Amino acid sequence: MVGPRIVIVGAGIAGAATAYALARRGMEQVFLLDKEKQPGAHSTGRNAAILRTAIPDPVLHGMARESAAFYMDPPDGFSGPPLVNRTGLYLAAAPQAEVEFRKWIDREDCSMGGHEVPVSEIHERVPDLAPGLASAWSFPAEGVFDVHAILQGFLRGAREGGADLRLGCRVDGIREHNGKVEGVETGDGFLAADAVLVAAGGWARLLPGKTGLEIPLVPYRRHLLVTAPDPTLDPRGPAVWIAGDDYYFRPESGGMLMSACDTVAVEPEEGELSDPRILEDLAVKTRKWLPRMAEAGAAHFWAGMRTFAPDDRFVVGPDPRLEGLHWAAGLGGHGITCGAAVGNLAASWLAGDSPSHPLADSFLPRRLLGGVSAPNFGTLST
Ligand SMILES: Cc1cc2nc3c(=O)[nH]c(=O)nc-3n(C[C@H](O)[C@H](O)[C@H](O)COP(=O)(O)OP(=O)(O)OC[C@H]3O[C@@H](n4cnc5c(N)ncnc54)[C@H](O)[C@@H]3O)c2cc1C
Repeated sequence: MVGPRIVIVGAGIAGAATAYALARRGMEQVFLLDKEKQPGAHSTGRNAAILRTAIPDPVLHGMARESAAFYMDPPDGFSGPPLVNRTGLYLAAAPQAEVEFRKWIDREDCSMGGHEVPVSEIHERVPDLAPGLASAWSFPAEGVFDVHAILQGFLRGAREGGADLRLGCRVDGIREHNGKVEGVETGDGFLAADAVLVAAGGWARLLPGKTGLEIPLVPYRRHLLVTAPDPTLDPRGPAVWIAGDDYYFRPESGGMLMSACDTVAVEPEEGELSDPRILEDLAVKTRKWLPRMAEAGAAHFWAGMRTFAPDDRFVVGPDPRLEGLHWAAGLGGHGITCGAAVGNLAASWLAGDSPSHPLADSFLPRRLLGGVSAPNFGTLST
């Protein structure tokens, strides 16, 4: 099957996973464009790489579980190395957050794959952790992604299926005629298309440009720090997320990767500029929970964008205002975890399958048009 001409704007996880899923459906006329010379140069290459499926919103938990099943057991030839290092993940609550934490973590439709454990279990695995946690859940099959292997697997599969990956190709706008997409204007000229998928991460809201068909997607900046290497740290240690203090950490490159979960709305061009003022908040949380690491010094410190719709749910599917305009954006802090499922769903819509996916309607852009907003579930995202 050749299929319609589809242009995907953005070769991060959303665009790459969609291109891959289209290739698996036999769609051959797919163009995957990215303004950068490297794929995954923005949020997909700047995150904490934690596989975490427990999410307070059951709809996102469903997507995360579906996606995790793909990463745990990808098709033959998708990747050489495993996509997930199953170090284990603990979600824990500080005392002030325990009531809120239990409201969702005890629900099977939010936390399948995990179980409650004594807090002492985390201390056995992370001897540096200070006392003070009220409760803890363990997700033994979860852990740390090899994001590079995932992205390369999607891109390789897409290219083998005929997709044309064009790097260093900036899309300046979408051209429409008579209520239908005609193609995109790029730095290299006009590229005709029957459908355009906006998978542009922090820039997604701006991409429809002159068409005026914005969706209220806002990028929020968050910082990560990796401490200097410490030979006493166990590199196979788990990822730990502390609700209430909004702090998470896991081993990385011989040191400890950590975040104070800062969340500041930004313009995309400023979304990756790190702000050293965050370091004080991170130091306070580190002194409280990992006191020995507080003086370790930083080997790396950087910022990235998590882009959200007002209800914290992804935006996936056709835009009812313009025939041929599709979205795969607003992946927030769950984009790597949920990427495989998002790509599959976006591809179903693009291929005109009328997805039978039980969650498909939950992500449609139409819910965000006309100022109606669904409840905010607070997704406690990485
Ligand atoms: C600090 C931090 C920690 C995180 N931790 C986790 C985690 O542990 N687990 C998890 O699952 N998720 C995590 N995330 C979330 C995850 O990184 C994102 O949800 C995901 O990477 C979003 O992917 P994307 O493809 O939508 O965006 P991106 O990866 O940003 O890709 C968008 C692409 O579009 C391109 N583009 C934009 N505009 C144009 C244009 N005009 N023309 C051409 N190309 C364009 C960009 O160059 C970019 O490559 C974290 C995010 C951050 C910032």
